[in-house]
Amino acid sequence: MIEIKINQNTIKRNPDAGRTTFLVPGRWQQDADGSRHRDIQVVHASCPEPGFLFEYEPTMVECSECHQKFLHTELRSDSFDDGSYSDTICPKCGAWNCCEIKYERLQ
Ligand SMILES: [Zn+2]
Repeated sequence: MIEIKINQNTIKRNPDAGRTTFLVPGRWQQDADGSRHRDIQVVHASCPEPGFLFEYEPTMVECSECHQKFLHTELRSDSFDDGSYSDTICPKCGAWNCCEIKYERLQ
């Protein structure tokens, strides 16, 4: 098991902390008279925005199938219609659940 560490220098307060509604601008559209407008969509998030934003340290991991090493940020994710899901797919050989990692949590 490899722990992916939080890069402490990237932690910052989330200006949207606690928000669940977001206004998302749509594409610009041209009206018949030549003027342009864009629609604003209201999106409701299923969980409130976290209090802090941060990034993880890029960390070397090794695939248990092909034994190649790469950064955890290169891991791919995919899902099947049957609901199975992996976010640790090897970018080299495509093996699912190719390594065991856990993400450090904010204290
Ligand atoms: Zn692999």
